[in-house]
Amino acid sequence: MRKLFKETLPSLQLFVKLPDGTMKDQLHYACAHCYCILPNKELAEGCCKQDYCEVCGTEIGKYWPVCTACSKAKKTEKAVTVDLAVYDGSVYDESQDVYYHDYGEFEDSVEPEDRPEFLYCCTTHKLKEKDPEWMAENIMGNLYDDFATAGGGGGLDLVDTSELVAGIKAWLDRQTLEVFHPDYTRKIKVVISGNNT
Ligand SMILES: [Zn+2]
Ligand SMILES: [Zn+2]
Repeated sequence: MRKLFKETLPSLQLFVKLPDGTMKDQLHYACAHCYCILPNKELAEGCCKQDYCEVCGTEIGKYWPVCTACSKAKKTEKAVTVDLAVYDGSVYDESQDVYYHDYGEFEDSVEPEDRPEFLYCCTTHKLKEKDPEWMAENIMGNLYDDFATAGGGGGLDLVDTSELVAGIKAWLDRQTLEVFHPDYTRKIKVVISGNNT
């Protein structure tokens, strides 16, 4: 792992030696720890410098203003709290990276002591909501790749494409598959066990 320093050394100024022997300032600087070359003094001095979370002060990796925990907390803080009385959709537990069909399933699956403070609401996307026209266009687009040379170029000479769309639509209507995505703008406060019924 890369070694970082609390106190860093002054950057090293770089010069190039011209054919006539004179030295010319190259306008670049090197980090005095790892000799990495950077376009200015500030970057060179910050190169191997240990950074700290601007919220809690823990050590963080390069180029992140806050640590992962603080950035998650910030995101949760910004989200609007939704009342369980009006939300019965799927929920996302970011601490475990697990989705639940609804809050009840979360309660049945996670022991009270393992529950996070907040869950996120989810947006649900159903396969049956896909646009059959768009799916048909994709299929025809792929056909075009295969048949372009055989057909001597030009457009597709497909017939009855509306039947393809109708077929896809009928197929989609029978699908129950759905996928959840976390909605980080809405959160649910987890009820602490025992006093919620
Ligand atoms: Zn460095
Ligand atoms: Zn932090």
